Amino acid sequence: QTDDSRAALIPRYVRVNTACWTSEEAIQTFISRGYQLSGPFQSEQGFSRDGHIPNLLAFNPKTQFADDPLYKAGKIILQDKASCFPAHILAPPSRDDCVVIDATAAPGNKTSHLSALMGNKGKLFAFERDRKRYSTLQAMLSRAHCQNVETVNADFLTVSPADDRYRAVTHILLDPSCSGSGIVNRLDHLLEAEDENDDGQERLNKLAAFQLSMIRHAMKFPLVQRIVYSTCSIHATENEHVVRDVLKTEEALSGRFTLAPPKEVLPSWQRRGLAEEVDNPDYAASLVRCSPDEDATNGFFVSMFIRTDPDRKDNE
Ligand code: SAM
Repeated sequence: QTDDSRAALIPRYVRVNTACWTSEEAIQTFISRGYQLSGPFQSEQGFSRDGHIPNLLAFNPKTQFADDPLYKAGKIILQDKASCFPAHILAPPSRDDCVVIDATAAPGNKTSHLSALMGNKGKLFAFERDRKRYSTLQAMLSRAHCQNVETVNADFLTVSPADDRYRAVTHILLDPSCSGSGIVNRLDHLLEAEDENDDGQERLNKLAAFQLSMIRHAMKFPLVQRIVYSTCSIHATENEHVVRDVLKTEEALSGRFTLAPPKEVLPSWQRRGLAEEVDNPDYAASLVRCSPDEDATNGFFVSMFIRTDPDRKDNE
């Protein structure tokens, strides 16, 4: 299948920005415009609620929202379903004392999702090292009415976990640069400009080494409880193999961090990690994969590491 024919099977996903209004209000607005809650493929006016992600709606792939006033006003966010998984799985609580990091934030769809889940409370630090993409991030977050986000134009690897501003961080989202090999629907602008079609093994190995270093850095934050690692890659090198390597690090072998159990990682989603690509096949159940050919999403991978210290504080 070509990317175009695969993209034609992916609904146009729309995340309702709950910083502005509710899904019920959004649905009523779409119905008043002539859309019908009959499913995205029944007709060009059909749409539905998504079955896995709250506040996500699925429209016909031909539906265009780029010029829609609701999009321009930040009331709806155009975000592929799979790219909503990381923030949903990280699930930061909506509390004034909650401190969260989005380590690799631009263009910012996951940042605004996190901010909405936090109910615009607490503090969300959003790092982006690329100057131009940082400007896009600022524009997107302003449009999405994010009030609890502080953007920082910096390399996450240079951020000190001992810094007073970040010491209290409990949740980290890591969606670092990857090969982008899972993207078939380019409307989300997830890809970075650089050699997007080069999936040579040498490049993948370099990306994997960088991805591992980002996760290890996240594990240095003294109070971090949950770290979600995601890619829009379909390659095991950037996905299961990175997880396998994390589990061989001092941080994991010492028992401080482990993979979150399957029940904490979108258990209703059927497609899990590739068992043959991890050392213990049981680990695969903790990993989420999306197949561009079979799941009506872009190709995607999500994992979550959790602190296992006896005094683990969590979302309860
Ligand atoms: N999470 C974003 C979203 O959903 O909109 C997409 C993130 S994109 C896959 C990865 C981003 O991380 C790029 O904008 C890249 O410039 C940035 N990045 C890569 N390495 C970084 C680092 N060490 N520190 C901060 N940002 C980094």
